[in-house]
Amino acid sequence: MTKVCPAGDCSGGTAGRQSDMTAGMLEQLPEAHKKVVGIPKRCSYCGCVYDGVTKQIFDFFDNYNLGKGWTPSRSILEF
Ligand SMILES: [Zn+2]
Repeated sequence: MTKVCPAGDCSGGTAGRQSDMTAGMLEQLPEAHKKVVGIPKRCSYCGCVYDGVTKQIFDFFDNYNLGKGWTPSRSILEF
């Protein structure tokens, strides 16, 4: 199985675990972040949220280590 998820420490991010972020997840993002991320892909294994084309990582949503919900990288508002 080939890893597709761009997160460096993700060990199970195969193609079948990548999908668009759901509307319910997007609703929980702050307005400023919604504008930045658009409709990103998310890895259901590690929670990595990223741009499906450029594979730029926006950060994580429901990550085992970082916790539930949206934990944006500090740089997200600098884009
Ligand atoms: Zn992953």
